[in-house]
Amino acid sequence: MRRTIFTEDHELFRESFRSFVDKEITPHHLDWERDGIVPRSLFTAAGRSGFLAMDVDEAHGGGGVEDFRYNLIVGEELQRSGTGGAGLGLTLHNDICLPYFTSLCTEEQKQRWLPGICSGELVTAVAMTEPGIGSDLASMATTAIRDGDAYIVNGSKTFITNGINADLVITAVKTDPSQRHKGMSLLVLERGMDGFERGRNLDKVGLHSQDTAELFFTDVAVPVANLLGTQGQGFVHLVHNLPQERLSIAAAGVAAAEAALGWTLDYVKERTAFGQPIGSFQNSRFRLAEMRTEIDIAQVFVDRCVEALNAGELTAEEAAEAKWWCTELQKRVVDTCVQLHGGYGYMLEYPIARAYADARITTIYGGTTEIMKEIIGRSLGA
Ligand SMILES: Cc1cc2nc3c(=O)[nH]c(=O)nc-3n(C[C@H](O)[C@H](O)[C@H](O)COP(=O)(O)OP(=O)(O)OC[C@H]3O[C@@H](n4cnc5c(N)ncnc54)[C@H](O)[C@@H]3O)c2cc1C
Repeated sequence: MRRTIFTEDHELFRESFRSFVDKEITPHHLDWERDGIVPRSLFTAAGRSGFLAMDVDEAHGGGGVEDFRYNLIVGEELQRSGTGGAGLGLTLHNDICLPYFTSLCTEEQKQRWLPGICSGELVTAVAMTEPGIGSDLASMATTAIRDGDAYIVNGSKTFITNGINADLVITAVKTDPSQRHKGMSLLVLERGMDGFERGRNLDKVGLHSQDTAELFFTDVAVPVANLLGTQGQGFVHLVHNLPQERLSIAAAGVAAAEAALGWTLDYVKERTAFGQPIGSFQNSRFRLAEMRTEIDIAQVFVDRCVEALNAGELTAEEAAEAKWWCTELQKRVVDTCVQLHGGYGYMLEYPIARAYADARITTIYGGTTEIMKEIIGRSLGA
């Protein structure tokens, strides 16, 4: 179905980012999958070419255009090329971490951090999840107790995307451990701070080129100047930023499903069984038709959500709807596409196999499907 949200400028940007992916990511993708991480030079290369921080004002080193459609294009092209795992660090940096800096930094913090974030010299991460808590964020145990001009941080985080590469980690902490939501604050922990250690780069089912790590904090003295936003308002800040994070994941899910369907259509037209292309069996046609229909419907909803986000109108509930439905769709589609590939669908040399492994996490991270339904259900007064 023809999409109506893009202008010519967006299409030019898409072409340019597609060339960047072809040149800077695709040729190295399998090496990075083996390494378990992308090189930091990927971030600086993206920064140099204008693919980081498109919405930060030019005075601080960004592209100066507040328009999530550019972020959307980056995410879509990464999925189209089958390099979503390697690109996840870029989309996390742009779509998920950056809004905390642009919406919460003081002018002094902006000057200190934004130029490096825009150039890719400062890689970002956001650390909420702990070994003992994920969905139930308000039960977090990492503490930050004020001592003069610093907060003394103790605790640990896990499953942190960009965890090894990150220089600036937006860290959710309890500045008042006696409280739940009201005791939470956000601090920026920086590479090299005494007592801030990285743990393992975790061995995952998929997304192999993405560094997902444990972080440990032992009496880390974080200057009060690194408080992001207001002390005690950490939960409110998170809630404010989560709709964009969830829309980013939803949009990537639809783009991943579209890519999977494309690879599968090529395959089922070529491969024959019982003297005919496997795509021409009625069952194959029906499955292809179902996927085509569901992806088109999802795309319309995602595009509408992007317009709402740009207009400052996307609600937490709408973002939750997009997140759970589009990622569950992604999971169903890649599973069906593996089935249509037969045994070859289980071989990593076929992009659908990697897409299958990469897809499994998307209904979990950024808030699980169950938590999304809780958010929507609560808003219905149920
Ligand atoms: C590859 C990867 C990257 C990640 N990146 C980051 C990151 O960058 N930063 C970060 O902070 N975190 C990150 N995470 C963590 C991710 O967001 C959490 O794993 C997720 O929020 C779920 O938390 P959990 O794993 O503790 O599961 P749990 O909260 O223990 O949930 C386990 C199960 O219980 C269900 N459940 C929990 N509460 C309820 C409820 N009230 N009602 C119904 N069911 C419920 C869940 O839906 C789930 O099915 C990442 C995880 C992975 C695997």
